Amino acid sequence: EKGWEPAEKVAETVCPYCGTGCVVEYGVKGGRIIWARGGRGSSNEGKLCIKGKFGFEYANSPERLRRPLIRRPGVPKGPLNGRRVEEVFREATWEEALSLVAEKIKEIKAKYGPAAIAGIMSDRSTNESIYAFQKLMRCAVGTDNIDQSATLCHEPSAWALALQLGYGAATNPVADVLNARTIVVVGSNMGETHPVIAAYVKRAAKAGAHLILVNPLRTELSRYAELELNIRPGTDVVLFSAMARYILEMGWHDREFVEKYTEGFQEWAKSLEPFTLEFAERVTGVPASAIKEAARLYALEKPSMIMWTLGITEHEYGTENVSALANLALLTGNVGRPGAGLMPLRGQNNVQGGADMGAAPGRLPGYQPLTDPAVRGKFEEAWRCRLPEFVGFRSTEMVEMARRGVIKMMYIVGENSVRSHPDARAVAEALSRLEFLVVQDIFLTETAEYADVVLPAVSSALEDEGTFTNTERRVQATHKVVEPPGDARPDWQIFIELAKRLGYDMGFSSPAEIIAELSRLAPIFAPLPERRSAESSGLWTGRERPYSTPPASPGAGQIQTNLLEQPDVVLERLYPYVLITGRERAQYHTATMTMRSTLTRIMARGPVVEMNPEDMKAEGLADGQVVYLVSPAGKVRAKIKASDRVPRGVLFTTFHYSDLWINAVVPAVLNPFTKTPAYKDARVRIERV
Ligand code: SF4
Repeated sequence: EKGWEPAEKVAETVCPYCGTGCVVEYGVKGGRIIWARGGRGSSNEGKLCIKGKFGFEYANSPERLRRPLIRRPGVPKGPLNGRRVEEVFREATWEEALSLVAEKIKEIKAKYGPAAIAGIMSDRSTNESIYAFQKLMRCAVGTDNIDQSATLCHEPSAWALALQLGYGAATNPVADVLNARTIVVVGSNMGETHPVIAAYVKRAAKAGAHLILVNPLRTELSRYAELELNIRPGTDVVLFSAMARYILEMGWHDREFVEKYTEGFQEWAKSLEPFTLEFAERVTGVPASAIKEAARLYALEKPSMIMWTLGITEHEYGTENVSALANLALLTGNVGRPGAGLMPLRGQNNVQGGADMGAAPGRLPGYQPLTDPAVRGKFEEAWRCRLPEFVGFRSTEMVEMARRGVIKMMYIVGENSVRSHPDARAVAEALSRLEFLVVQDIFLTETAEYADVVLPAVSSALEDEGTFTNTERRVQATHKVVEPPGDARPDWQIFIELAKRLGYDMGFSSPAEIIAELSRLAPIFAPLPERRSAESSGLWTGRERPYSTPPASPGAGQIQTNLLEQPDVVLERLYPYVLITGRERAQYHTATMTMRSTLTRIMARGPVVEMNPEDMKAEGLADGQVVYLVSPAGKVRAKIKASDRVPRGVLFTTFHYSDLWINAVVPAVLNPFTKTPAYKDARVRIERV
């Protein structure tokens, strides 16, 4: 801290980026943030990663949206392509912009019905705003077409964990990693995506915990690992089923736990028959000896913790991948104790909260089903409205339905869909076909360039009051650190105002009143209002370890049979490389914030595609050469970079850079249950430019 510019005030809030939910103290001078340092009272214990420490300058960016914008008549939708913002949009008052949006909602509803309207909510917004959004859409608009970004990332985790354990969330606090004797990190580059959690894993490994990595790529954690299983992409189910089969064969499973707390064991055990070690070695590329050792450590060197990120979920079979992990935990009794559990590491600071608040089709706040007559009755009475009679689309389906002309209007809050969804050119086409598009954001994103109305929002972490729920289910208070620019408004206020113009009074006027209503209607959040405090250290939704007394209720501890993935041989021949898209340490998602902060921008690695040097030799490519990546979805130009961490047959890149529109070649292959795209398993070939 020596030499830091003296601040006029120091204010604490929660980091605007990943789901770790680090507490940050910001130094403020002249109304601007001048530095950041790690706060205490949450899992970060004073630490921050590059993004948390240096990625705050976006708040001061001159490019922030300050006033509502309305598209000028006759100006075509799409990229500005050199046109000035003023040529495409004109500034408007809130009164004018919200009245126009309300008028269009009424018009489209009258013409096509409420199912023609859909909304996507930001998981970077507060719990309070997300709750207000789903209430606006369900009660004032009358549609259940609502979703948030979990569909693009961890919904398979939430889906499988809810099915098998009862609650779609992590089973332990992050610090529990220090209690584990074996840690299995699967499909995660957490040293870059969740550096503060990675610090716990490194600490545990240095203190003697067995660290097993499962990933096609070598990552920063590799040098701490005792065992590294570099599997072929998309073969996770085979690996974990073979481990389970071997554990059973050796009698290493926890018989008492299985008998007392699980259902479906016999059927599942029978389904493991094909997953022999020899078969698994052939399919996954991992030597049988390594599979045996991983199984031994996980089953015998307990307590054991499994942690994963999107390398598991972003597959067509992502739900089965997560089920395979949950099955291993249930088989060995590695649930519900300190150091034993299942930890999906969430990507956005409030993606857990987004699901908790009911911003998902068919799911009311607190995971209460819209289709349950008793639940509907309760909410209809409390909200004084008729709830939609249909279960809506997920976000990936919404854009497809917009492309087909079924959905006519969308309201997109804080999501840059044109860059983040698969088959991105089809997304752009879908957005241009809409009769009306509203985008609410802090910058004029590529998605906002297709909007009819753009509404300027505040940065929820820095300019609003409310709560975020982090990856370990800790509900933490956010605080206003600086004033928002111009006329920008908090999301929840915009939703309340819009609902009024649609003739519906939401019944609350502050974040505290929203949380109070939530806790009345969703029992799992009942303790929140009394326990919610100004401290960021937070409270748990449910208990700290929800399965510490394993519940015997139906639906808890279910073991699921696994699908055997069938490779598509024709596709493999035509498109021989597996393209994996991920993230790098200094950037965040479509980089709208990190590329507007000086130090994170300087640390950007740039839009390159990493390729194994042997593959480059076989293709006759030089380092830095520009090629076309071609897939069934499309074609993009990309610069190749030699990389030893990528195995043969695999290409790795990020979706951070607008210069490389990588999701234009990622086909919209979706998980059948959660509609999550297979970003980690796209097939491409290389063509010369
Ligand atoms: Fe922010 Fe995540 Fe980094 Fe913590 S680890 S500082 S929450 S980006």
